[in-house]
Amino acid sequence: MRILVHGRGVSAMTAAWILAEQGYHNTIVGPSYNQDLQVAINQDTLRLLNEIFQIQLQEVPTAHWIRGRLVGWNGESDAVNEGSLSIRTGALTHALESQLTKRFNGSVSWTDEKIDLEEATFTFEASTKLQDRQFSSLSFGKRVATIASARMSDSSNFSRVEQTKLGWQFLLPTSENEGKLFVIVANPDLCPKSCVETAVQDSSLCSIVQSVEDIQPWVLVAPKLSQPLVTANRIRIGEGAFSFDPVCGDGIGYAVRSSLLATTTFFDLIRGEFRGLEYYRARILKTFQAHLHGCANVYSGWSADGWAGEFAVTLKGLEFLKPIGTRN
Ligand SMILES: Cc1cc2nc3c(=O)[nH]c(=O)nc-3n(C[C@H](O)[C@H](O)[C@H](O)COP(=O)(O)OP(=O)(O)OC[C@H]3O[C@@H](n4cnc5c(N)ncnc54)[C@H](O)[C@@H]3O)c2cc1C
Repeated sequence: MRILVHGRGVSAMTAAWILAEQGYHNTIVGPSYNQDLQVAINQDTLRLLNEIFQIQLQEVPTAHWIRGRLVGWNGESDAVNEGSLSIRTGALTHALESQLTKRFNGSVSWTDEKIDLEEATFTFEASTKLQDRQFSSLSFGKRVATIASARMSDSSNFSRVEQTKLGWQFLLPTSENEGKLFVIVANPDLCPKSCVETAVQDSSLCSIVQSVEDIQPWVLVAPKLSQPLVTANRIRIGEGAFSFDPVCGDGIGYAVRSSLLATTTFFDLIRGEFRGLEYYRARILKTFQAHLHGCANVYSGWSADGWAGEFAVTLKGLEFLKPIGTRN
């Protein structure tokens, strides 16, 4: 039996681990991880990853523990005293890859060569790159994010999330005096690179951010849903199934959970139980709908340029998904 796991992110690593643990040799296909985002992993997800991969991710070099979160939303401010781990996705997947190699050397192989996925008995599709014409994706908005490096005077070790005149922003410390700043806007045409500085100056960050540099090009962060989510011999997981608006803050957790459910579905298939595929599809769609509901709640009533459109398209998406999502 030839089992392929396509992709090299957290969802791919999780699927490969669970398969190997149950004795299924699998091949991870795809180039080395080509994104390097700074993300915050909440405590539940951290526990889950540490438990699965028998690792202490907080000990990975460059990982940085954050004490809590300061939230400035809808004119109100709040402190959430709940710790999280700030880590680069490159370092995270590297650590998981190392554990996989150490524990399952021989049961998991790796290739960055292009493989015809049709040759596989079963494929876990964890790549954001849709490889063939049988798959398509639907976008639910046009909002974009840019990421910049920030030098900070503050060493309180809190991340900060707040609404701005243009949308919202998130400052995630990477060490005591440095961090990554995400600026999310609905309409990039109205926002030259200088809007990152403007966002900082017009917000509570102006007192702690000393300088901003290395501003990256805009990337789409509106939710995207891949179709179809399952076929008889393929199942889409993590960002390969749908991408999260970062406002939810738990993309990594969803990636791990979707892989756990997908591998269970696969084990059912092996036992001749085929209904699991439909159950998996329905679960992912429900999760996606819940995510869109969350986005609609956050963005409702936002008056900054383009946000009324983002809200409208989210509601339209929910309407569109209703008949499919209500099936059990
Ligand atoms: C700006 C931003 C901030 C975020 N902040 C957080 C956060 O704070 N906390 C959190 O939990 N989540 C956050 N997320 C979401 C999180 O990064 C993802 O949900 C998570 O990485 C999903 O893991 P994955 O393995 O499913 O997909 P990914 O990590 O996206 O991996 C997808 C796979 O596709 C491959 N791939 C992509 N493009 C190509 C290509 N052209 N050719 C071949 N292969 C390709 C990649 O190499 C990788 O193997 C954020 C996302 C964004 C965009």
